[in-house]
Amino acid sequence: MSAAPGRRGANAFFVTFGVGLAVLAAALNIGWVVLTWSEVVPLLLGVTLFAAIITGLILNTMFLVREVRRNEQHDAFVNAVTHELKTPLTSIRLHLETLLARSEQLDEAKRREFYDVMLEDSARLQHTIDQVLRTGQIARAPLHKARLDLRALVAQSVALIRTRLHLPVEVMRLSPAAPGEEAVDVLADEVELASAVMNLLDNAVKYSGDHVDVDVTVTREGARARVAVADRGAGLSPSEVKRVFRRFYRVPGPSTRGVKGTGLGLYIVQTAARRLGGRAYVTSAGPGRGSTFYLEMPVARPSGV
Ligand code: ADP
Repeated sequence: MSAAPGRRGANAFFVTFGVGLAVLAAALNIGWVVLTWSEVVPLLLGVTLFAAIITGLILNTMFLVREVRRNEQHDAFVNAVTHELKTPLTSIRLHLETLLARSEQLDEAKRREFYDVMLEDSARLQHTIDQVLRTGQIARAPLHKARLDLRALVAQSVALIRTRLHLPVEVMRLSPAAPGEEAVDVLADEVELASAVMNLLDNAVKYSGDHVDVDVTVTREGARARVAVADRGAGLSPSEVKRVFRRFYRVPGPSTRGVKGTGLGLYIVQTAARRLGGRAYVTSAGPGRGSTFYLEMPVARPSGV
């Protein structure tokens, strides 16, 4: 999420300017107090006015800093989405053009390989479009809540991710249910919940580099149901564990370099969790030491929907 050097210079200038003005106003205020020490009315009037000016300047500078940050995040998001839309589309076009131009020279195996690449690229396109649409609608979309078996939904998502990302079963494991916990029923919108779980699984693989080793568990603790996705990948520093759920946020640095993404996945997870009356959070032992993402929600009452 880094700004261009020119713009960073301009930002630093205006922030310094704002802070400078606030300091100048404070100095003038002190001068005014010294000059009018013996006259109560101008003294009180001056101090009040200066206090108002200083407060205004500080608020204004804070607002500017926030807006600048937000703009930078929007820029990074637009770049990421553009990239995520253009790359698979270009790849599909290239493969189609090759198929059209050299179809006789390509044997059946090569053609199959091309079709597979194009299918993967269209799945990636679909994923990006879904993420963007979901973020736009997420707060407004009506929920179609129904009683669901959370364990079955997670098992389906794990199977889907394994197929989609060509993962051997042993690198993403779903722990067997504890006795008496075979079914964990929740009241949820199936599409929304599945999308949240898929985002967590997808990230666990994306941020594990070449060594994917993921454990997925579904447990019930009293009135709460919990999905935990533990990986041994990039991990997070303590300051990042809250930030990663913000919209458009991507951790700067080596963990995201070369990893495709828009910064929307965890925002979608958190919003879904809140709409279910639950929460999403993460724990990590630190960068490079893996992380565990949790999605928690109330279990459905036995009486029904
Ligand atoms: P995206 O993956 O599209 O960048 P997300 O909202 O899903 O967006 O994640 C936000 C950021 O949180 C990611 O860019 C990454 O820096 C960090 N992150 C997410 N999942 C993990 C994970 N399992 N391990 C380490 N970092 C993660």
